Amino acid sequence: MSPGSIAYLDNAATTPLHPEALAAMLPFLGDRFGNPSGVHAMARDARAALEEARDVAADCLGARPGEVVFTGGGTEADNLAITGVHGRCGGTVVCPASEHHAVLHTAATVGGRVVPVGPDGIVDLDALAGALDDDVTVVSVMLANNEVGTIQPLGQIAEVVRTHAPNAVLHTDAVQAFPWLDVTSLAAPAQLVAVSAHKFGGPKGVGALVVRDGVDVDPVIHGGGQERDRRSGTHNVAGIVGMAAAMRVTVDMRARTVERVGGLRDRLADGLIAGVPGTRETGDRRTKVAGNCHLRFEGIESEALLILLDDAGVCASAGSACTSGAIEPSHVLTAMGIDAADALSSVRLSLGPTTTDDDVDLALKVVPEAVARLRGR
Ligand code: PLP
Repeated sequence: MSPGSIAYLDNAATTPLHPEALAAMLPFLGDRFGNPSGVHAMARDARAALEEARDVAADCLGARPGEVVFTGGGTEADNLAITGVHGRCGGTVVCPASEHHAVLHTAATVGGRVVPVGPDGIVDLDALAGALDDDVTVVSVMLANNEVGTIQPLGQIAEVVRTHAPNAVLHTDAVQAFPWLDVTSLAAPAQLVAVSAHKFGGPKGVGALVVRDGVDVDPVIHGGGQERDRRSGTHNVAGIVGMAAAMRVTVDMRARTVERVGGLRDRLADGLIAGVPGTRETGDRRTKVAGNCHLRFEGIESEALLILLDDAGVCASAGSACTSGAIEPSHVLTAMGIDAADALSSVRLSLGPTTTDDDVDLALKVVPEAVARLRGR
């Protein structure tokens, strides 16, 4: 149940800490405060916990422990993947237009090439093939999109990359996928895989990048040589231990969560489509993660709707951004060919493991009322 009478439907932005993650972290915020890079007993205790967490992360990500690089979150993991390989190999970086800014903006710093997605948000495989050549060193395609939840066919994408860019590694931002999808199998075709703890019940500011054996990345953070020289800086032991605990719970519960939350999402989306005239759903539910409900309400400004929802206890979000005083439509919706007015009428209601029937009931009551009010009826 969400706190008080609030329906928290912004789980794609962040999730509450799993009790198991909090319990795992507490000793490392207290007595077990050693620096794992040291040699004495306190340091060894911290290092043992760190390596135990690495084993768990490796297991949950389908990697070997030595392939897991702990980072300060998903953004840093994406930066390390792209800048790290580009720094080592040069060449060209390619990514779809619907990537998270952590990828898009990092690719842009090295003059990245952007490829289109179709109206369903899925990368256009022909356009991808056309953008690839021997000079391409990194192709970055997210496993699941943060705004509309679209799942990319990574196996097919890897095949296109192997054929048309034989010198490239495939990086996947699996930040939004991990709560819902079996990353061990679905991200297996990628040589680099980024995740972020706070999207699956872990703490903020902690993440990981899988760097498969045989792939070299230059560090983006230089210093004491931690993480086998791939990411310097004293380890956030409590955060890493908390992430590992959250990973374990997420993986153990995933099938049940997907079934239960997918049912709630369907009830929410179907209820709003039926109950609010002029509502359209973004993307195809069959190729979306179970927690994503992305709707466009004809004639509505999403910013105004979000304020009314907030007043009524529903936490949601929109992908629009306020740039130089003007509201800009989301780059993801624009990439899917949705026009500006339509894109600016959208709201993302993202469900998670703690979402309840009561949350959905509240949203089903509040959203139609708020839309009707904005429409002046
Ligand atoms: N990639 C995706 C797809 C995301 O949704 C996010 C967070 O919103 C990130 C990367 C960035 O992760 P973090 O918040 O840990 O920096």
